[in-house]
Amino acid sequence: MGIFGRGRGRNVGGGRGGGGRGQGQGNKPGSGPVGICVCPSCGHTQSHQVGVPCYNLTCPKCGAKLAKQ
Ligand SMILES: [Zn+2]
Repeated sequence: MGIFGRGRGRNVGGGRGGGGRGQGQGNKPGSGPVGICVCPSCGHTQSHQVGVPCYNLTCPKCGAKLAKQ
């Protein structure tokens, strides 16, 4: 077990892990503006409608403007 004695506690904070790949709601080229609108105030989410920007929608719970997630 000696070879791993050093380097403990050092995180590999490199290029992987925080990227946009691998998430289900990703940006698929050509699939159109489909997604989720989320309320930044209370966390309410609803499906984004084509042709209606999220910022034109208001949250039914608290009335805040929704944002694209
Ligand atoms: Zn809300």
